[in-house]
Amino acid sequence: MAMINQNEREILQLLTQEDDFCIVCHEAPDGDALGSLLALTGLLQQMGKQAVAVCMDTVPYVYQILPDVEKIQRPDVLAARHLITVDCADEERIACPAAWLSQADWVINIDHHGSNRGFGTYNWIDAGSAATGELIYLLGKQLHADFTPQIAQNLLAAISTDTGHFSQINTTARSFAIAAELVKEGAQVAQLCNDIYKRKRLSKTRLIGRGLNQMQVFCAGQAAMIVLSRQDFLDCGATESETEGIIDYARDIDTVRVAALLRDTEKGSVKVSLRSQGDIDVSQIAMKAGGGGHRGAAGFTLYLPLEKAVDYVKNALKETIACS
Ligand code: AMP
Ligand code: MN
Ligand code: MN
Repeated sequence: MAMINQNEREILQLLTQEDDFCIVCHEAPDGDALGSLLALTGLLQQMGKQAVAVCMDTVPYVYQILPDVEKIQRPDVLAARHLITVDCADEERIACPAAWLSQADWVINIDHHGSNRGFGTYNWIDAGSAATGELIYLLGKQLHADFTPQIAQNLLAAISTDTGHFSQINTTARSFAIAAELVKEGAQVAQLCNDIYKRKRLSKTRLIGRGLNQMQVFCAGQAAMIVLSRQDFLDCGATESETEGIIDYARDIDTVRVAALLRDTEKGSVKVSLRSQGDIDVSQIAMKAGGGGHRGAAGFTLYLPLEKAVDYVKNALKETIACS
């Protein structure tokens, strides 16, 4: 498990020798982003370092149960001289003011997106890793840091959510091996599954129903698309982050090869999520539209009215699976 290269060695050295770290994840944070953010902050603190966790976006309801989540800060100015980004595919999606990147002495970029071009001063990018949480685990081991049950729970949340609880194509033997170690360190699997996958607000259950009712299926059942307007959110009393997981219902239809979820955001832009069973590389569709992601899960933002965005995505899916 412990193969490390030159970039990683440099990063380990910096984390050992330096102090005063600010760790930040991507905007619209998911389980891997938040779990990695909190775990790395905790590991550095266990080493006696000053470390603050920053995320300017609201923590989605399901992740408000993560240990130490209340310690996440939203400062207006750079919270420390040394900036570490986790799970951030590109600099535009970092959940801190853009100027922080140039203001910091250096930036360490730890990520697992194949589309990451290495915006950091130091980069640890492993596209073969199922989750950034796996990289944080390896890093913690190399640093001989103490894994508290809280850190273990955050890392298990990171790996579990990015692998679809160990069910997606990116899941490897290493994912299971690390998860086993985390359980030994005190991570609670049943509690995590209940908190993150089962228990939900009524507003979310209503939004799932609305989304499923409105789902469009085309290309002889090979493509499925769910569109959620501002009115849908208002009617259900739901927040934007409560869309997480709804796209899986579209992707999981047995004939579907590519699925999309469009949501009209409060900012007036349309956030697009894409999923596939793995035979279609949806990150290619996302990158053409200025976004990114992985083979089976990717996303992008369209600065268009909702109807125009629907047309764009529908055409992109049709083109991808060559149907008319
Ligand atoms: P989502 O659909 O938001 O769950 O995102 C699926 C995957 O695509 C995640 O790994 C995201 O980090 C990535 N992703 C989503 N939107 C973007 C974007 N605009 N740019 C780069 N990567 C993205
Ligand atoms: Mn993420
Ligand atoms: Mn991730």
